[in-house]
Amino acid sequence: MLIDRLNEEMGAFLSARRDSPTDDEHDPEGPTLAFERSQSSAMLKQSAQHLSEIDAALVRLEDGTYGLCGRCGKEIASGRLEARPQAHLCIVCAAQVR
Ligand SMILES: [Zn+2]
Repeated sequence: MLIDRLNEEMGAFLSARRDSPTDDEHDPEGPTLAFERSQSSAMLKQSAQHLSEIDAALVRLEDGTYGLCGRCGKEIASGRLEARPQAHLCIVCAAQVR
């Protein structure tokens, strides 16, 4: 699972940092490591966000509100749900929220 892999990578980055006595500014590998770490961190955050959206969608499936807009209560277009199954807003509301 993606999120497990990212967690492992984060752990590896963090221990690589601990093993190295030099800091990012003086270590030629430092900036790369820091960059990759921030990339992983961003991906991890994104995955966690994605997972919580999917969890929320599963809850809506169970209580029968799946496919209904969380804001206006109208049905979310099936094309939108196909592209983004975890969507909880119809396209009109999503555009207004952003
Ligand atoms: Zn709506």
